[in-house]
Amino acid sequence: MAGFDNKERGLTRLLENNRQWAKRMTEEHPGFFEKLARQQAPEVLWIGCSDSRVPANEIIGVMPGEVFVHRNVANQVLHVDFNCLAVLQFAVEVLRVRHVIVCGHYGCGGVRAAMSRHEMGLIDNWLYTIGAFRQKHATQLESLRHAGEQEDALCELNVIEQVRNVCNTTLVQQAWRRGQDLAVHGWIYGIHDGHIHDLNITITDAQAIEPIYAAAVAAPRLRHGLARLDQGATGEP
Ligand code: ZN
Repeated sequence: MAGFDNKERGLTRLLENNRQWAKRMTEEHPGFFEKLARQQAPEVLWIGCSDSRVPANEIIGVMPGEVFVHRNVANQVLHVDFNCLAVLQFAVEVLRVRHVIVCGHYGCGGVRAAMSRHEMGLIDNWLYTIGAFRQKHATQLESLRHAGEQEDALCELNVIEQVRNVCNTTLVQQAWRRGQDLAVHGWIYGIHDGHIHDLNITITDAQAIEPIYAAAVAAPRLRHGLARLDQGATGEP
């Protein structure tokens, strides 16, 4: 069986880029890799979408070692997803991060797929809970006039729901009971302009989950339109 040839697959450029990047980093930050090789001490766990347009480190301008990252389609935190839970446990209990950020994005293909009626196979199972969120917030979403507004709103509501899911994991509940300093945040990123917006759902203890969740869901833009936080744009990015 013939193997894949890197050159043939267009990957040579990536390896060359890597060598140049490592050289530049070493020149600009002497000892950088040696220090990172000894330990990592990030203060942030980032839970984001796998979308290639939403790279965690780049869009928040941090170096390797500063953010622990978990990504999946549509930035979901499912209580049966042991991949995500294992990342969360390591981040909270071993790295002892101070912040968990769930960052969604407008124009999310996963959210769009959950809104469509088209069957796409296995991925439909992964996106099932987003469809359930759509039903849960149907009255609110349908009050928005344009499909683009509804999609933007569901992208935001998905982040808000996932923040609540993070907070309701046994891992985060136990951390708070131990008195660990841990805040969970919900952000959304605009692929069209590169800006991140805070969805005003920052939760730092178990008692605050429901009132802050309810306030975030009831945000005026999510009830009256102009969902997208920057200019109230609708539709495709
Ligand atoms: Zn996405």
